[in-house]
Amino acid sequence: MNFVPVNTPLLSGNEKKYLNECIETGWISSEGSFVKQLEEKFAETVGRKYGIAVANGTAAIDIAVEALEIGKDDEVIMPTFTIISCITQIIRNGAKPVFVDSDANTWNMNVSQIEAKITPKTKAIMVVHIYGLPVDMNPVVDLAKKYNLKIIEDASEMIGQTYNGKPCGSFGDISTFSFYPNKHITTGEGGIVVTNNAELAEKCRSLRNLCFKPEKRFVHEHLGWNYRMTNLQAALGVAQLENIEKHIIRKREIGNLYNSLLKNVPNIQLPLQKTDFSENIYWVYGIVLDKKLNVNAEFMMKKLADEKIGTRPFFYPMHKQPVFNNRGMFLNEHYPIAENMGDFGFYLPSGLGITDSEIEISAQKLINTLQTVKS
Ligand SMILES: *Cc1c(COP(=O)(O)O)cnc(C)c1O
Repeated sequence: MNFVPVNTPLLSGNEKKYLNECIETGWISSEGSFVKQLEEKFAETVGRKYGIAVANGTAAIDIAVEALEIGKDDEVIMPTFTIISCITQIIRNGAKPVFVDSDANTWNMNVSQIEAKITPKTKAIMVVHIYGLPVDMNPVVDLAKKYNLKIIEDASEMIGQTYNGKPCGSFGDISTFSFYPNKHITTGEGGIVVTNNAELAEKCRSLRNLCFKPEKRFVHEHLGWNYRMTNLQAALGVAQLENIEKHIIRKREIGNLYNSLLKNVPNIQLPLQKTDFSENIYWVYGIVLDKKLNVNAEFMMKKLADEKIGTRPFFYPMHKQPVFNNRGMFLNEHYPIAENMGDFGFYLPSGLGITDSEIEISAQKLINTLQTVKS
């Protein structure tokens, strides 16, 4: 049996054709027309006016934080259970991340903990939709209005998902996406910032392009990055976007097949199939081991690797990261749900390129392995 990789992308549309077009015309840099096409089409897909394509999803968040001028001593309320991409620019700018714990059922930030964390220094709430179900946005939007806060929405894992019928990525003052190969559409590496605010859009464009000024090119008033996306990446993205609906249907099939294969397995928590406002799109198919098993995710993942099944651990909470603890940050903070997910959660092979038989093999190997560890 071959190894079942944790992710295989699906490149089954016009990817080759559009890439060939780039090569044949010589348009390979960020000046090419696919970049503009991707920005316009993607923004439209998620119901926003402006799209700014960038080098990756992390870059998109850096730009969002910078464009909203989150700086020294500003506080940003965010989940501790997320990827480090969300926090790096907040830290670099001398602002303060203020964490909330996760909801044990949806794995998303527990929005009922936000209000108590708001202070006069709070400038923004950063929401990060996790693994397939969106954050409950109505309470967040209400709080942002009530306290005059900005919303940054990291919708990297939610391309094609909706909350109460409204696209994820349409809720932030600035919303961001990643097009890494395990996302619902990919450009290899890539990402995008979207917004409805013309002024913010212009700022994001400038930050992406070293803050060159149109009038005086090599005279700068602000510090930016070279976070541009190439036409080659955008060519892939335009082709992928043509298939987004198919990709979402397939993702749900993958999730539902795992659900049916694993539904009676004791001592593991499966993803919720739906909430009041959304049906899961299973960006990844995650599980959380019950503490009763007396083994952690790391142990199970090694066992599964021996059985040729690829897995990945869940995110590890930000407040427990050595890089911050070594600087004396977050030392006495505890968020028990996020900590439990970080120790006991991992995900199974669930990329768009997976076959049904690979899913069946992965589920069966998981079941067998769990039986060997049961106390
Ligand atoms: C993938 C991901 C990112 C980072 O995207 P890159 O393109 O890998 O930089 C950021 N946030 C979330 C929630 C992600 O899943």
